[in-house]
Amino acid sequence: MAKWKLPGSVKIYADTFSVKEMPLREAEAEGLWGHISYTHRLIRVAVGYGRHIAARTLHHEIGHAVEAETNTSVQVIKEVLAWQQQDSGIRVSEQELVEVVREMIGRGTFEAIDTVWRDNPGVFAWIGRGIGRG
Ligand SMILES: [Zn+2]
Repeated sequence: MAKWKLPGSVKIYADTFSVKEMPLREAEAEGLWGHISYTHRLIRVAVGYGRHIAARTLHHEIGHAVEAETNTSVQVIKEVLAWQQQDSGIRVSEQELVEVVREMIGRGTFEAIDTVWRDNPGVFAWIGRGIGRG
């Protein structure tokens, strides 16, 4: 058995997600390291692959919750489409478009994650301590 424990919960804006272990058998069968259920406010993390994978998986699932909460991808697509229509006379290179999309995703996601960092210092400390460990 693992000598470490997952954090009990993560607060994502107004919602608190429970964090529970995903049995290794299920993780292997599904080909997953983790899963998030918005309906059940539940994040499950496979602990059988070690501390490092568990830390990165929890971080990944928190990222999904932030993205879902902020609708970052949908918002970016809408803004890029509006921007393209507005400037339809101007030729925009693919590289320029990629940079605009990157900037918007960065702004949306990282500004949003500020709140999650503030509300979960212990969870992020746990993630940080786990990266690079067994
Ligand atoms: Zn994922």
